[in-house]
Amino acid sequence: MSSLDSRKEDHRSGFVAMIGRPNVGKSTLINKLVGEKVAITSPVAQTTRNRLRAVVTTPNAQLIMVDTPGIHKPHHLLGERLVNTARAAIGEVDLVLLILEGSKSPGRGDQYIVNLLKRQRVPVMVALNKWDLLKQDMKEKMFDIYINLLSEFSWPLFPCSALSGEGCTELIDSFTEKLPLGPQLYPPEMICDQPEKILLGELIREQVLFETREEVPHSVAVLIDRVEEMPPSSRDKSAQVKTAVLATIFVERKSQKGILIGKGGAMLKKIGQGARLNMQKLIEGPVYLELFVKVVPDWRSKPARLAELGYQDQKRVH
Ligand code: GDP
Ligand code: MG
Repeated sequence: MSSLDSRKEDHRSGFVAMIGRPNVGKSTLINKLVGEKVAITSPVAQTTRNRLRAVVTTPNAQLIMVDTPGIHKPHHLLGERLVNTARAAIGEVDLVLLILEGSKSPGRGDQYIVNLLKRQRVPVMVALNKWDLLKQDMKEKMFDIYINLLSEFSWPLFPCSALSGEGCTELIDSFTEKLPLGPQLYPPEMICDQPEKILLGELIREQVLFETREEVPHSVAVLIDRVEEMPPSSRDKSAQVKTAVLATIFVERKSQKGILIGKGGAMLKKIGQGARLNMQKLIEGPVYLELFVKVVPDWRSKPARLAELGYQDQKRVH
């Protein structure tokens, strides 16, 4: 029996939803736990739009982590769909990991999520992420503040850092204890169940948000038009297959298109270079990337356009 064999009697498996406000480090934590870049991280809030599943296979268990968009009060149709996706995730999992920004005092946004979770029957664990940002004496103080905040629940608290990895092994061990007995649900070598096209699109969107910061807010979407493998040319000594990716970036306004393209195309070039490097890591081979920018006024408020771009509506879970 191999060490990853799931036929052992005490093997456990199940789904863990990563829930938290935007920007608390949900995606970074998933990446750390999985050990490869699968979730999109960004210094700008709200980059995870569709639910992404990442799989961690250990000798005793398989955890399927569900990344959700950050929960917050919705302001427009897209925002509402993001929140519904997160709420729907809570109803379908074996365990919820509530991720809080442990380096900061809790705020009203945290209270909103706590209230949402306390009505659910699913077991909850709490990660106090970004613990690396605290000096030693502050760690004790913050821990007490959070213990007080959550005093009415029996949710265990785990200080951790998705950046340094501190506390992450403890998290995986505790997930394992809480999950039901069950077999492996995915092949052990699988780390992510999103189709490649969505991941590639997310890598572009990540770069757009990273390079433009607040100038081009969330009115940007990416559609991968084509992914093709190009046979190596006879002059190419490495003889590696190159992957060609053609993609369109949608924005709502002409001014945003201008920002995205930049002076003499400089901005689009930077976005393309950054996205291409990450794509090469994902694909593990050379990538040729071509980007187009298209204006579709008001796409965020048009349900049909949203569906076309892959943002399916989720049923509300109360
Ligand atoms: P999400 O919106 O919850 O998915 O947040 P992200 O994973 O995209 O992270 C938001 C930002 O916080 C990024 O700039 C991350 O690098 C940063 N971040 C995430 N986890 C940590 C951590 O443990 N420590 C520090 N210092 N920064 C972190
Ligand atoms: Mg995220």
